[in-house]
Amino acid sequence: MKIIDGKAFSQTLREKIKDHVTVIKESANITPGLAVVLVGEDPASQVYVKNKGIQTKNAGMNSFEHRLEEDVSEKVLLDLIEQLNQDPTVHGILCQLPLPKHLNENLVINSIDPNKDVDGFHISNVGLLNTGQKSMVPCTPLGCLMLLREYVGDLSGKKATVIGRSNIVGKPMFNLLLRENCTVTVVHSRTKNIEEICKSSDILVAAVGRPKFVKGHWVKSGAVIIDVGINRVSITENGIEKSKLVGDVDFEATKDTALAITPVPGGVGPMTIACLLANTLVACCRTHNLAEPQELVL
Ligand code: NAP
Repeated sequence: MKIIDGKAFSQTLREKIKDHVTVIKESANITPGLAVVLVGEDPASQVYVKNKGIQTKNAGMNSFEHRLEEDVSEKVLLDLIEQLNQDPTVHGILCQLPLPKHLNENLVINSIDPNKDVDGFHISNVGLLNTGQKSMVPCTPLGCLMLLREYVGDLSGKKATVIGRSNIVGKPMFNLLLRENCTVTVVHSRTKNIEEICKSSDILVAAVGRPKFVKGHWVKSGAVIIDVGINRVSITENGIEKSKLVGDVDFEATKDTALAITPVPGGVGPMTIACLLANTLVACCRTHNLAEPQELVL
């Protein structure tokens, strides 16, 4: 079985992005800029935002970080987003989710200029993707598709199953696979025969948020598996309790049956930030009518 090395693939992708950024800087004197807004003190979000900032700068782009207090009013947040919408040095805006409960997430997302919506969550981008038009594509499913194209090649006619129907992973993944001419099934918590559906699939994308949800005997021989899940679990090693990240797929149990699988960590995770950089570069090119890097555009 092949391990789909998302870490290595994302590094190559980041290098391509960096090269393209250099060309834009030299030829057009424009530096792509990504603004990230973080509300509150959520520890996981702080780590993500810090990593995004580092990788944005490493790609040669400008990184703008805006930190707001947990109890910030919706008006202050919306005013900040409007200011970023108007700022010509900002090509991409990302508001780190989840937001504190008193803020209306949909309202906030839809206040971002769709051309700067590098998360691809704005309702206009969702609609464009849904209708097969050019849009900003959500980073995690975009990364999954890039890995599938690389390891499977032509996806046309393949039977694909997406486990999970969230707005950030499952639904856009369904649309992307459909666009690739797969026959796609989406399963969720109310689906009756998940095991059977998975068993007949050439491609499995698991975005459930439950450790080792997909069992070995659910996997068809020769299937390609993309494991989106990131779950922290406790394990005991030599009498010492530790925590460890595992995916939504039982990696050990599937590895003899599957043709290829993404590991956790080191699979989809690193692709997500690389795709955020790709989207920022694409947004910058579209704003300034510059040639878009073809390998980053769907
Ligand atoms: P989510 O919003 O919680 O959605 C989970 C989906 O799984 C829902 O559609 C839910 O069905 C379905 N589900 C839950 N229990 C199920 C069950 N027993 N049987 C079948 N379906 C079930 O999660 P998400 O945001 O899509 O994220 C999914 C996982 O991916 C998480 O582990 C998350 O940490 C990870 N993730 C990773 C990245 C990355 O960069 N690698 C990015 C985003 C998310 P219902 O709709 O019926 O409730």
